[in-house]
Amino acid sequence: MILPKSSRLTPEQLAAVTAIVTEFGCGIQPIVGAVRTIYAIVGDERDELMINRLEGLDYVERIDRIQSPFKLMDRRSDLASHRITVGGVTLGAELLVIAGPCTIDPRNPRYFYETADAVKEAGAHALRGGVWKPRTNPYTFQGDARSLDILMEGSRRSGLPVVTEVMDEGQVRLALDAGVHVLQVGARNALNYSLLRSIGAAVAQRDTVVLLKRSLHMGPLNEFISAAEYIAAFGNPNVILCPRGTAPALDGYRNHPDESITPLLKEKTWAPVVVDPSHSVGKAAYVPACALAAVAYGADGLCIEAHVSPSQGIGDDPKQALTPGALAETIARAGSLWNLAAEARAG
Ligand code: PEP
Ligand code: MN
Repeated sequence: MILPKSSRLTPEQLAAVTAIVTEFGCGIQPIVGAVRTIYAIVGDERDELMINRLEGLDYVERIDRIQSPFKLMDRRSDLASHRITVGGVTLGAELLVIAGPCTIDPRNPRYFYETADAVKEAGAHALRGGVWKPRTNPYTFQGDARSLDILMEGSRRSGLPVVTEVMDEGQVRLALDAGVHVLQVGARNALNYSLLRSIGAAVAQRDTVVLLKRSLHMGPLNEFISAAEYIAAFGNPNVILCPRGTAPALDGYRNHPDESITPLLKEKTWAPVVVDPSHSVGKAAYVPACALAAVAYGADGLCIEAHVSPSQGIGDDPKQALTPGALAETIARAGSLWNLAAEARAG
């Protein structure tokens, strides 16, 4: 990783750096951070001669050689000071809450608009809503591209930024063109490396944030962080990790709740952790406790399914969406707990 002395390299400097690494079979990927742009060396960066020549350039401050499978997302990386902001909340400075229905019902958009206002009133900072849905059963509702307009209208009406899941490059393009603020990579696609690469490239040089869910089948934490590294390595370091329960399910819950991995992730990566308690436990009655557990484990935020009238919802909402009242109570409790934890961290 090349750290320039100034906030970014000039085009001439970048061309010179690129010419050097190309001689050694490597390439350069600029990563735009809030304060400065750094330049990842893509390829085998161990050649001493290449490093010496780069370090000899008077506009290069230093070359970071972190021995890590995820050199950008590693907590020792120069990007560790990078801050991600969603809905006016800087992750790490305040508890971020994303809330909204699992799935937008294109036949009843008013539920989405009412839910948008209700989650804002309850204290959420961002609004979620599924436009395209990954469904296990091909005969169930798969989502509807028309819901994208409803999603953006909900954002305009409530003033909240929106989060929606994308499953292919066409959906990525449509969502970005519509102005979606946070792209969700769902559990089923968290190991789809070509999608991760294309999302990283599509959102490069933008403020767009990516909410990367943990796959049902991810084992070692390095696998999860490496998936985030794919997005960062292709140009966008605004990646949030989202534990959401894994397989096999704990008897009685929808998945195996995994909010307890939060401190382990934080030992390895600077990426913020926003836990999804809704898919972890899969039943509205268990969601508040799981949300509080996540905060106790050090989560930076929560992503909670909520609906003004869960029984009228589609997708997961009848089972696992919180009502606005339950959401408001959960946010208030989680916020107090987060403040206590932050005080304790500050010593
Ligand atoms: C969702 O957020 O509604 C969803 C399908 O998420 P996951 O990928 O975690 O299953
Ligand atoms: Mn859902």
